[in-house]
Amino acid sequence: MAVVVHDFTETAAMTFAIPFADRLNNVETSAIRELFKLLGKPGIISFAGGFPDSAMFDVDGIREAVNAALTEEAGGALQYGATEGYQPLREQLAAFMTSKGAKDVAANDLIVTTGSQQGLDLLGKTLVSPGDKVIVEGPTFLATIQCFRLYGAELISAPVDGDGVKTDELEKLIAEHKPKFVYLIPTFGNPSGAMLSLERRKKVLEMAVKHDTLIVEDDPYGDLYFGAPPPPSLLALSATVPGSRERLVHCGSLSKVLSPGLRVGWMVGPADLLAKATMCKQFSDAHTSTFAQATAAQYLKAGRMPATLDKVRKVYAERATTMGNALRRELGDAIEFVQPQGGLFVWARLTGAGGKVADGGELAKRAIEKGVAFVPGAPFYARNPDHATLRLSFATVGLEKIEEGVGRLGQAV
Ligand code: PMP
Repeated sequence: MAVVVHDFTETAAMTFAIPFADRLNNVETSAIRELFKLLGKPGIISFAGGFPDSAMFDVDGIREAVNAALTEEAGGALQYGATEGYQPLREQLAAFMTSKGAKDVAANDLIVTTGSQQGLDLLGKTLVSPGDKVIVEGPTFLATIQCFRLYGAELISAPVDGDGVKTDELEKLIAEHKPKFVYLIPTFGNPSGAMLSLERRKKVLEMAVKHDTLIVEDDPYGDLYFGAPPPPSLLALSATVPGSRERLVHCGSLSKVLSPGLRVGWMVGPADLLAKATMCKQFSDAHTSTFAQATAAQYLKAGRMPATLDKVRKVYAERATTMGNALRRELGDAIEFVQPQGGLFVWARLTGAGGKVADGGELAKRAIEKGVAFVPGAPFYARNPDHATLRLSFATVGLEKIEEGVGRLGQAV
């Protein structure tokens, strides 16, 4: 898939210095963008993207949903709408959350956002003043790091293992830093692929109450499990930990399971926080596209989601297994990783065994020469990057190409 990266090259004619806001000093263009520019090279097999596979999109279902949206309520689908979201979609999303165990979420307990990315931005806008501390996982989603930094957050990294964030360490960091909030991707995190254990989920919620701390659960991948379902989301579990619900924000998204182009996400949280987020959203995009919202509402109403989920889970599961097996075979002791149980990514660490390459950035360059791309892991750390790490996405590559790509990676190592 082509990745378009704008290259706003400076020209000699640019003599005017734009008076940028100071907040831009806190962020920089990601190193990964440079890598993406190389992906257009012919013949490259790319494990670098963070996208779902376009071939998985239920085009017929979405076409029917568009038709239904225009036939049944063209006014709602094409007119300006409420900033909180298109009410039929809020109802469908509440029902979707209920079907996933968060039984007490009502339509008015959530607002619709333009992708969950906008939810993160609204959290930055409403909660972060310059110098505020925010705890994130190390590693975490790159755009979150950039987004919170844009608002001046000082990010603290909590270490992660195969079972997700290490709750003992997290508790120490919360006690020490008293953060504005803690941002976690508990289920098949990007990039870690890790799944937070049930025991740790309960501890996180108990910690929220004990330390009076706001927790943000970002959950765009929770539906993409390969075998048994993951433990309940923090949102669903919060019903069992008194006091935790009012200290919890949950961001959801249709991007990874239905279509990222629709830009439909949502945010569940305390009413006063949602009210302020809605006010900020009003100044930003007025509301998420009513056309996209009405389409998503019709899609969910038509009951197509379970079949779509079954299909994508099967395809991604097969790709994940193929990639895991190929990595073990082709790279042997040069690499270590936990086989993902869901999501889109294998998160791996170069061991340097036998004097082999141990730096993800160095390997990425060599790999491009061999015709395979992935993303080095270091940029995903807000602090103290582990340069031996890498993120490999199996989502958009067919089984044969996965084998071939991992073979090339083996040569590069
Ligand atoms: N959070 C995480 C962890 C993600 O990986 C992504 C997409 N890569 C997003 C949020 C944003 O997704 P969207 O805005 O498409 O819902």
